Amino acid sequence: MYEALLKKDSEFEGIFFAGIKTTGIFCRPTCTARKPKKENVEYFPSIKTALHNGYRPCKVCHPLKLNGEFPNWINNLLNEIDQNQNIKLRDYDLRTKGIDPARIRRWFKKHYGMTFQSYLRLLRINSAFGRIKQGEKVVESAYELGYESLSGFTESFKKSTGFSPSKSKQNNIISITRILTPLGPMLAGATDEGICLLEFVDRRMLETQIKRLKKLLNAEFVPGTNKYFDVLAIQLKEYFDEKRKQFYVPLQLPGTEFQVKVWEELMKIPSGSTRSYKEQAIALNNPKAVRAVARANGDNRIAIIIPCHRVIGSDGKLVGYGGGVWRKQYLLNLENRN
Ligand SMILES: [Zn+2]
Repeated sequence: MYEALLKKDSEFEGIFFAGIKTTGIFCRPTCTARKPKKENVEYFPSIKTALHNGYRPCKVCHPLKLNGEFPNWINNLLNEIDQNQNIKLRDYDLRTKGIDPARIRRWFKKHYGMTFQSYLRLLRINSAFGRIKQGEKVVESAYELGYESLSGFTESFKKSTGFSPSKSKQNNIISITRILTPLGPMLAGATDEGICLLEFVDRRMLETQIKRLKKLLNAEFVPGTNKYFDVLAIQLKEYFDEKRKQFYVPLQLPGTEFQVKVWEELMKIPSGSTRSYKEQAIALNNPKAVRAVARANGDNRIAIIIPCHRVIGSDGKLVGYGGGVWRKQYLLNLENRN
């Protein structure tokens, strides 16, 4: 694949996309931009996986426009998004542009395997946090030296988050990293106190959770390292390898008294078993609060470790899960086997 990339081999169009680690951009094999060193490339079979792994589409080769001719309406829209990768386009905005939201949803589903809104969401997350990887030297050393030295990175980070380096001294820092799992990449956040965020990157609530955490902890998110990330990554791997049932890593759970109670009760559900929302409410001595329990469940910011996936409908149906019901099914199957 690296050879194909160097040769700009069009035979490989659509076969793979190249993620350039140093820039956080993903390209088609035929891209005319300067080619990266071999060790700085990773390969993805689809646009979706490249996005899930933190990459943004290249503005030179436009990976999204892979399959030749595009109708004008989608072409113009993609160009507009190129100009501002933090853009939010609600149904209303689309209609103002004369675009039918249902039509674009179908287009994105068909061509890229995701909805238009999840594409925009991933783009925003990726431009805020870049292609962050634990232990990456450039971020690590810059992190130690202070934010000023991160010039390029700081600039883009500031643009997307409103983070200002001069303010950093009054604010707390939530380090953020990406951890790969068999169910897709997850975003993890941690302070000196513990892990405060663990969520699948394509989860709809992720942006909201990030905003809430910023406020609750009066903190800024900065890609980087944290003492708890290693142990978290190791324990997650053991969990997915069916070698671990319980997690031992400090958690930081800012929230209302009720939310914290619900989350703590969730951690009492043993691996391999499930409860209904009603049973959870009874366990909390609050049998009438089924709906509030369900809501607090949905507000859980630490997927898998706080096992909100172990709560199912009273009829045994899996009902909703922030990360998608297919993930819930996978986790429950895994825990049942283990
Ligand atoms: Zn490119």
